[in-house]
Amino acid sequence: MKRTKLDWQADERCQELAGLLADEITELRQLTAPIDPFAIIRQEHPLLRAGGGNFGDRFDGKLKYNKEKKKFLLFYNIKYDLGLEQGTNHPRTRFSICHELGHFFIDEHHKYLLSGGKAHASSGEFKTAMQMEREADAFASSMLLPTHLVEPLLNNGELTLRKLEKVSEDFGASLLCTTIRGVRLSDLPCAVAGIRRGRIAWMFPSKAMIEGHCYPGKRVLESPSAKDRWTAFEVGDSGRHTEDGILGHWFQLYDREDELYDVEVTQSFFPLRTVDTMVVLLTMDPDAISKEEDEEEDDIDRDHRERFGW
Ligand SMILES: [Zn+2]
Repeated sequence: MKRTKLDWQADERCQELAGLLADEITELRQLTAPIDPFAIIRQEHPLLRAGGGNFGDRFDGKLKYNKEKKKFLLFYNIKYDLGLEQGTNHPRTRFSICHELGHFFIDEHHKYLLSGGKAHASSGEFKTAMQMEREADAFASSMLLPTHLVEPLLNNGELTLRKLEKVSEDFGASLLCTTIRGVRLSDLPCAVAGIRRGRIAWMFPSKAMIEGHCYPGKRVLESPSAKDRWTAFEVGDSGRHTEDGILGHWFQLYDREDELYDVEVTQSFFPLRTVDTMVVLLTMDPDAISKEEDEEEDDIDRDHRERFGW
């Protein structure tokens, strides 16, 4: 079924709230980068306990409520940590733990588990379509990359892969997670999309894109350079590439189709083998899509002219 603009906006709002909750937690507890999810878990003791294990491909994280012990048990998979220095966790492990913390802290999820709701296995970043999962993902992204700490770094001129990479290393978050956060926090028109099986599997646009009436929702890969990159990715190319493209290949433009279709965009591709996804960061000249500022005034002027016969 085709999703409407309203569906998309409602989903967005829930994710935004989950992110704000994580922001509030990190800010109130005065946590600094890189955020230590275990410090948060310790603060929730004895209601919450956590344990890691190598759960193979079964799940990345799981949160359960144990009725007899009256405790929440958070399990996380350490398979990504194998080979890392003792005591350090891979960004994916950190994300999984924070995702489960989302289920613990988001009121609705917490109550659901308390009332005997079945624990569900979560796996991968941004993989499932379920609303609760997306909320927990949004929570995790904001917990690892709190707004008050990263906004000054990411909403500071054009988003570039270089800038995103530096933040991702300093905060112990994956490049994907950091890119999505960067797009969400940016005041400029930009977006990040995931290409899977040769199609656009998901996309997050910045606020300025929506204000400019450029919406996600396209599934078919129309950009010729993106098709080429996907083909190369499938046969093993793991390089990063930046290429020019056009806006109309990526967005539903509705009333602005004629005006904006050919606007030039910069497409920065980076492959993510672990999730079989080619990620693309889309950036553009902010002036190219901004609505005419004096449009409204023009209308008023016209009204006046007509009314007074000017
Ligand atoms: Zn989950």
